[in-house]
Amino acid sequence: MSTLDQNLAKLSGYLERFRETGIPNRIGGKDVMGQGGVFDTISPVDKSKICEVAHGTAEDIDAAAMAAAASFPAWRDMPAIERRKILIDVAEAIEARAEEIALCECWDTGQTIRFMSKAALRGAENFRYFADQVVQARDGQHIKSPTLMNITTRLPIGPVGVITPWNTPFMLSTWKIAPALASGCTVVHKPAEASPLSARLLVEIAEEAGLPPGVLNTVNGFGEGAGKALTEHKAIKAIAFVGESRTGSTITKQGADTLKRMHLELGGKNPVIVFDDSDLDRALDAAIFMIYSINGERCTSSSRLLVQDTIRAEFEEKLIARVNNIKVGHPLDPATEIGPLISQEHYDKVASYFDIAKQDGATVAAGGVTVGDAGFFVRPTLFTDANNQMRIAQEEIFGPVLTSIPFSTEEEALEIANDIDYGLTAYVWTNDLTRALRFTDKLEAGMIWVNSENVRHLPTPFGGVKSSGIGRDGGDWSFEFYMEQKHIGFATGQHKIMQLGK
Ligand code: NAD
Repeated sequence: MSTLDQNLAKLSGYLERFRETGIPNRIGGKDVMGQGGVFDTISPVDKSKICEVAHGTAEDIDAAAMAAAASFPAWRDMPAIERRKILIDVAEAIEARAEEIALCECWDTGQTIRFMSKAALRGAENFRYFADQVVQARDGQHIKSPTLMNITTRLPIGPVGVITPWNTPFMLSTWKIAPALASGCTVVHKPAEASPLSARLLVEIAEEAGLPPGVLNTVNGFGEGAGKALTEHKAIKAIAFVGESRTGSTITKQGADTLKRMHLELGGKNPVIVFDDSDLDRALDAAIFMIYSINGERCTSSSRLLVQDTIRAEFEEKLIARVNNIKVGHPLDPATEIGPLISQEHYDKVASYFDIAKQDGATVAAGGVTVGDAGFFVRPTLFTDANNQMRIAQEEIFGPVLTSIPFSTEEEALEIANDIDYGLTAYVWTNDLTRALRFTDKLEAGMIWVNSENVRHLPTPFGGVKSSGIGRDGGDWSFEFYMEQKHIGFATGQHKIMQLGK
C-alpha cells in the first residue's frame, strides 16, 4: 500500500464522525448546531462534500461571547502556574493528535502533507512557548518618582475575538489563541468558512486537555454574519484578525462603535531582491521555497522577484527549469509539492492572472495553466518581462505565482521594492554587508530576512506596515495586545497638592 493510500485510509477514519454529526459550534463547553442551519464544506482536492457545518449567526456569537464573559473571571484569576500547566497539556495533546490534524487540514484546505505535518507541530509549539511566558506575563514595572512609588501591572483585557483565514488555519489560529489564553483572556474563535475542520479539533483537544468550558468557544460561519457580529459585540474587548487588507479595513469600521482594540495581520506582495554579488544557488532555493511552498497561499510569500540585470538571464533560466519540475498532485502524497487551491472562487481568481499577465505584456515563462478539472489545481507559474506597474506586480494573487522584475542599480531596486501598498516582509540577497545594512534600513517592511528565507522565531515581532497590518505578534508583543497596563501611584512623600475652594 502506498503512503498516499495509507494516508487516505487514515483520513477516512478521522472524517467518519464529521460526516455523521457535522461540525457544530462549541459554546460554553457544549456542542450547539444553532438556529442558522448548516453549510457544506468541500474538499478542494476533488470538490466532494466533506460534511455539514453549523452556520453561526449573531445569536450564536452572542451566546459564545456571554460564555466567554462568564468564564473570564475564573480564568483570569487562576494562578499562573496552573494556567501554564493546562496550556502545556494542550500542547502535548496537539502533538498526540498531530497526524489527525495534518491529514484533516490537507483535505480541508488542499495544503500538502509535507508542510502540514510540520504546521500541526508548530501549533503545539505556539501553546508551549506562550505557556512558558505565563508566569512573567503580569510583571509590570516599578518606576519611582520623588514623592510616589509608581507601580504598573498588566491584566488580561477580557474576552477577545479571534478571526482567522483558511491558509494554514491550525497554525495561524494557535498563534493567536495560545497567547490570548496565556494572557488570561477567554476567546471566541470564528474560523474561515472554507476550513472549519482543524478549529473543531483544536477546541476539542483543548477541552480534553483540561481547558475549562467556555474559555475557548468556536462559532463557525461567514464573515458578514458571525464575523461581523463578533467584531460588534460589546462583551468582546479586542479582535485579533488575520486576513485580507480590505477585510481588515471593514472590521475596523465594524468595531469602531464599541471601541475595539484591533490587531490586524493582512496581505502582502513581498519582494525578494537578488543582487549579483549574492550566493545565487541559495538565493534560488529560497526564492522558490518562499513562493511555491504552501501552494503560494501564504502572506509572507516572496511574490515579486527583483533580480539584478547582470544575472537576470542566468537566474531566470535556472528558475524556469526548477519551476517546471515542481510536482503538483494529491496533497496527501508525501512527494507532492503543490496541492489544489482552496476554492473555486480562489482558483478562478488565480487563473485570471494568467491572461492579465499576457494582456499587460509580460511573458508566461513557466506554468500559466490549470491542471485537470477534478480539483482546483494550477501549475506553478513564473511571469517574466514584467514591470512594477503591472497588476501582476501590484496585486496579491495568493497562489503559486511569481513575477520577475529586473533592476540595474541598488537605488532602482529600493524604489521598486517600496513602490507598493503592502509592507509585510522582504528578502534581501547580497554578500555586501554595508549594502545590506543600508538597504534594509530603507526597505518598507515589518520583517526582513537577509540571505535567508522566512524563519519564524516566536520571541521576535511578527507583523506588517502600510496595508499589511497594524500590531505585532510574538514574544512580549502578544501579551501587550491581550493585556491592559494599569498604573497605581502610592505617595511616599509629600508634594504640594493644589488647593481649591479653601
Ligand atoms: P478574508 O479577509 O476573506 O477572511 C478572513 C476571515 O475574516 C474569515 O474568517 C472571514 O470569514 C472573516 N471575515 C470576512 N469578512 C468579515 C467581516 N466583515 N467581519 C468579520 N469577519 C470577516 O481572508 P482569506 O481569504 O480567508 O485569507 C487570505 C488573506 O489572509 C490574504 O490576504 C493573506 O495575505 C492574509 N493573511 C495574512 C497573514 C499575516 O500574517 N499577515 C497570514 C495569513 C493570511
